[in-house]
Amino acid sequence: MSEQKMKATAPEYALEIENLEVEYHVDKEVVHALNGISLKVKQGETIGLVGETGAGKTTTGLSILRLIPSPPGVVKGTIRVQGEDIGSLSEKQMEAIRGKLVSMIFQDPMTSLNPTKTVEDQIAEVIRLHEKIGKKEANRKAGDMLEMVGIPRDRGGEFPHQFSGGMKQRVVIAMALACSPEILIADEPTTALDVTIQAQVLDMIRDLKKQYNMSMIMITHDLGIVAEICDTVAIVYAGSIVEYGTLEDIFNRTAHPYTVGLFGSLPNMDDRTQRLKPIQGLMPDPTNLPAGCPFSPRCPRATEECRKAKPVLKNIGGEHLVACHLVKEG
Ligand code: SF4
Repeated sequence: MSEQKMKATAPEYALEIENLEVEYHVDKEVVHALNGISLKVKQGETIGLVGETGAGKTTTGLSILRLIPSPPGVVKGTIRVQGEDIGSLSEKQMEAIRGKLVSMIFQDPMTSLNPTKTVEDQIAEVIRLHEKIGKKEANRKAGDMLEMVGIPRDRGGEFPHQFSGGMKQRVVIAMALACSPEILIADEPTTALDVTIQAQVLDMIRDLKKQYNMSMIMITHDLGIVAEICDTVAIVYAGSIVEYGTLEDIFNRTAHPYTVGLFGSLPNMDDRTQRLKPIQGLMPDPTNLPAGCPFSPRCPRATEECRKAKPVLKNIGGEHLVACHLVKEG
């Protein structure tokens, strides 16, 4: 697939995922990591994937880059990047997409950088993978990228261990943006950072996203980050999207009991004496998902029907989708 071909057709959505199912085989067990996820992201739009650890958020991101061990990997569904089905591409074509059309910022900057290479060389390596330029020119561009993320270019000759956690994450962001991707997947980009640095890195990601008009998938468990940065939100539970809508739908017209539980477990800053209300129980074992609604063992409103039939997503108005037997279509 040529990049020109993809850009020439200018599809309505930068990314479309349809009915994606992903499995991992561990020992003799099958982990049902994603169970039919569908979502669409327009050019320049940011979608938040929100849920607890193990919900399938990172697997969704890795699937878009086709980095899931396969087989079994993706067992069903399609992923289209700029209108092109990535399942039909060769590994060489995928290499041209990774880092160029789609980039990912991984959660932990400590493990994303090579400790034996200078940060400038690591960024330059990404640039040279996609652009036919010499080492000197690539290193000059890498210096520009460092400056863009607020690191003086004369520190480019240093190694990752010479940087603080926040600075390392900036380097990782510079690497992800080095070839101006059209889709950026940010997987908990601020989780490993302390609170003040988190705010700085988030502001920077938001500004760069605007500057490059990128589409972004923000993977997080933090609803505060979602409120600051996202246009649309998908609440993910046990490998399925249980609620999907605009930021206003999710924050002002919360409909799914799991999303209600997520908001209920946040501290109330106006009433500091109030106890937190955590969602009882744990996410189900993905090798042995419950029958019916996957949230039913933890749901305070579960009925007999919930334990028998898995609810499908229903449109309850505008673009607001909810998978719960209690809500009515429209
Ligand atoms: Fe709760 Fe039933 Fe709705 Fe599932 S379908 S979220 S168990 S009320």
